[in-house]
Amino acid sequence: MIDLRSDTVTKPGEAMRRAMAEAEVGDDVFGDDPTINRLEARAAELLGKEAALFVPSGTMANLVGVLTHTRPGDEIVLGDESHIFNYEVGGAARIGGLQTHPLRNRPDGSLDAGEVAAAVRDDNIHNPVTSLLALENTHNRCGGAAVSIEQMDALTALAREKRMRVHLDGARIFNAQAALVLPAARIARDCDSVSFCLSKGLGCPVGSLLCGPRDYIVEARRNRKMLGGGMRQAGILAAAGLYALEHHIDRMADDHANARRLAEGLRRHDAFVPNDPQTNIVVVEVARGTVGGWLKAFREAGVLAVGFGPARIRMVTHLDVSAADIEDALGRINGAMAAVPA
Ligand SMILES: *Cc1c(COP(=O)(O)O)cnc(C)c1O
Repeated sequence: MIDLRSDTVTKPGEAMRRAMAEAEVGDDVFGDDPTINRLEARAAELLGKEAALFVPSGTMANLVGVLTHTRPGDEIVLGDESHIFNYEVGGAARIGGLQTHPLRNRPDGSLDAGEVAAAVRDDNIHNPVTSLLALENTHNRCGGAAVSIEQMDALTALAREKRMRVHLDGARIFNAQAALVLPAARIARDCDSVSFCLSKGLGCPVGSLLCGPRDYIVEARRNRKMLGGGMRQAGILAAAGLYALEHHIDRMADDHANARRLAEGLRRHDAFVPNDPQTNIVVVEVARGTVGGWLKAFREAGVLAVGFGPARIRMVTHLDVSAADIEDALGRINGAMAAVPA
């Protein structure tokens, strides 16, 4: 099987497993795990923030990130295609007591600054307090779009003017770094906090980091404990993260080239209208047949993908698919075309 369902399907290789096996560990709830401490310091440095917190998942990184910036009853402004709004089980509302105010995401993953400005409530006793703007870069549902630095700067400047904090869901921030040819720290520079996943393009089995100011991370550590995310000898997992930050950042461009090649091959079939991938996510509009029908045909041919809405399929390139695998996948898909009636 060539598994293109997600960049979360990667399995740790020999060298990463060795780093995990040899990790020095301690009880991280007591602050005693030296490997976690090193990972948090390295993450903070890469993202240009004072401190960082290791958490089990991207969902928890965003939830802790958002909880730590807000009070129950506040309103958070975010994109209607964002991960926080679509895929985090409503945690911001349910656990944070927050009202989400979704604005239309533009196809490039950004938000319209005028719409954000209009969404901020006046200071009036009737109104919730609009305390947070949540951005996403790269933008998953916008086909892995790397949101430009001009858009980031315009939105963070507006947030500052409106006295809102900014949280960046940077699950794939290192894909954005490669696509924009700008350091992740520059992309996140004017965001108060930024989360990123180790378990996606970086190829780790588990883990995410939340980065921000030192006093914010102290409070975030308390919120992580409340959510049950305080782990003990998790340096075994952090060792994988340190390994990935050293060895897997510079290869993101390979995933992007593979995604472009995949989109190019799919575009030759009139049934498929793929995006022009900027990073590692290929979103394919299905012009003929059904999503279910194609997914089944692909699976039978040995290629795994996922449905991404009623007429879209998503395919993601990652550490465990090579350029040769992409050629192989395209060959298998060519074979599958005959299997699905028009
Ligand atoms: C995957 C993802 C997350 C959450 O990650 P999990 O580790 O699966 O909880 C958050 N934001 C974006 C944009 C993602 O793609």
